[in-house]
Amino acid sequence: MFNIILFGPPGSGKGTQSEKLIAKYHLKHLSTGDLLRSEISAKTILGLEAKAIMDKGHLVPDAVVVGMIRSALDNNPSAQGFLFDGFPRTVAQSVALDNLLKEKNSEINIVLALEVDEEELVKRLLNRGLTSGRSDDTNEEIIRARITEYKAKTTVVADYYKQFNKVVKIKGVGTVEEIFDALRFEIDKRLS
Ligand code: ADP
Repeated sequence: MFNIILFGPPGSGKGTQSEKLIAKYHLKHLSTGDLLRSEISAKTILGLEAKAIMDKGHLVPDAVVVGMIRSALDNNPSAQGFLFDGFPRTVAQSVALDNLLKEKNSEINIVLALEVDEEELVKRLLNRGLTSGRSDDTNEEIIRARITEYKAKTTVVADYYKQFNKVVKIKGVGTVEEIFDALRFEIDKRLS
């Protein structure tokens, strides 16, 4: 298995690049944001509870997202690898993920960290809010709260993986193709 974490703040382009990466490398895409939004659409109890938290721009509890990831890993026993998008977002989630993968005799092979400055992120997210139908993308205050959560709880995830030399920084500004090429270059280096 070849497992990738696509890392970066909200609005850094993880969703866009994930679609291209899973097609190119035949990976199973696991986005905790998407998994949570399916729970919301299905009106499950988990979904209702998560929506209240997501609408404030806060992180849902670690146990909830780790549980979703555990099921997704168990439900895809023949995957060639996973692309984690929007997960892990805390060090506790990172440790839990490492343990889940270890049980499957696997590990994270690379953490690709997209870097985009804050004002560009806010601009992109407000713009996405015009068409995405995502309530957390329409209000600048909520967008800033998500970026604040990212800085407070998620940037340390990159530090966690740095100790294992797994992190590669990628400039998240440019055309979609330019950024995809930079990601591919780093992945191919490790696959060969
Ligand atoms: P973005 O990266 O643009 O914020 P996501 O779809 O990844 O979009 O996440 C949307 C929201 O879902 C987050 O603000 C958070 O409330 C919740 N969420 C997603 N993934 C996680 C996670 N791994 N841990 C906790 N909360 C999460």
